[in-house]
Amino acid sequence: MIDADRHAENLARTEIAAVGKSLFDRGLTFGSTGNISVRLEDGGWLMTPTNVSMGALDPARLSRFDGKGNHISGDKPTKESVLHMAMYGQRRDAGAVVHLHSTHSVAVSVIEGIDPLDVLPPLTAYYVMRVGRLPLVPYLPPGDAELALAVEKLAGKHHAVLLANHGPVVAGTTLANAQFATEELEETAKLFLLLRGTAIKPLTPQQVDDLRLRFDLK
Ligand code: ZN
Repeated sequence: MIDADRHAENLARTEIAAVGKSLFDRGLTFGSTGNISVRLEDGGWLMTPTNVSMGALDPARLSRFDGKGNHISGDKPTKESVLHMAMYGQRRDAGAVVHLHSTHSVAVSVIEGIDPLDVLPPLTAYYVMRVGRLPLVPYLPPGDAELALAVEKLAGKHHAVLLANHGPVVAGTTLANAQFATEELEETAKLFLLLRGTAIKPLTPQQVDDLRLRFDLK
């Protein structure tokens, strides 16, 4: 490995641990739930290991994959690694993926009658800019190959998807972008739940279209 790649990998390891701790400290993840991955310069990946708190990640023990997706070093990877690989496989621009069991997002995912093609209304411009249209992936058990396939089907058109009775999977060009989009989704889910039963005025389709044009959103 050349020095520049090693340096970039070490920075990514430190960043993953810092983001994990930040998410944990703010209650966005709990127990040993949630996982983070980052794509590396050599085509491989770093991923958070199985059965570990995101609040206490050891950068040196993160699971390391080669460019073919083989686990080559570090602790045993999460069984949810297939969700991450489903995103990367469909999105060349994905530099990182965050998956959480964040409470408000999960709450929205179990509401009867929610629109599976677009779970949340466009309450704010930042939701439209960071998340966009959010599809619901039907419930399947964690680690099930069918679940990864279901994510794969949607990942080409959506960088963020919501797993029913489970939580969001969000890709970003960088770890910061994946983190910010996941947080935007969680806060919008919280707003949506706060507003349940209240007549609301989400952004109009024209206002959403204007944002898409203005900020070159896909
Ligand atoms: Zn999960």
